[in-house]
Amino acid sequence: MKLSEFEIDFNKFKNEKDTFNFKLTDAFFELKEKSLYQNGNFNVDIKCEKFEDTITLDYSFDGFINSQCDRCLNPIKIRVNTSRLDILKLTLNSNLLNEENYLSVNHPVYSVYDSIYEQICLDTPTRLICENSEIQKKCIIKYLNSNESNDEVDERWAELKKLIKK
Ligand SMILES: [Zn+2]
Repeated sequence: MKLSEFEIDFNKFKNEKDTFNFKLTDAFFELKEKSLYQNGNFNVDIKCEKFEDTITLDYSFDGFINSQCDRCLNPIKIRVNTSRLDILKLTLNSNLLNEENYLSVNHPVYSVYDSIYEQICLDTPTRLICENSEIQKKCIIKYLNSNESNDEVDERWAELKKLIKK
């Protein structure tokens, strides 16, 4: 998988409408420096439509982030099923081209990589834990020292109780 595979050339549009499909694998995340995730499988469809001075990109995502539960370290799959709509404006103004969402009329080539990556990150739960995963079950934690974990909970309750007394 290469970054250039995510570039769409809107000059090549035939009927002003086109749909692009991307099958993402771990290689997708390897393209990102310091990627938040390393493993995943996604199907991404992008319906593009070209108008006189705008282009709409209607994304739909479905797939999984494969990770490890932050709490119990068991392998988990986190489902991400989402959509996104981007609107690009075509312009001849070179100043505007430095801004986001503007494309040159003469060179309407756009990389969808960052939008795909960003959307997957936005829709992945912040906590990678069993409860947020496909199985939606609570973690099975085998404590090496069960007293230690109880103390942690007790401490929090003690703090709460103090607040209630006030
Ligand atoms: Zn877990």
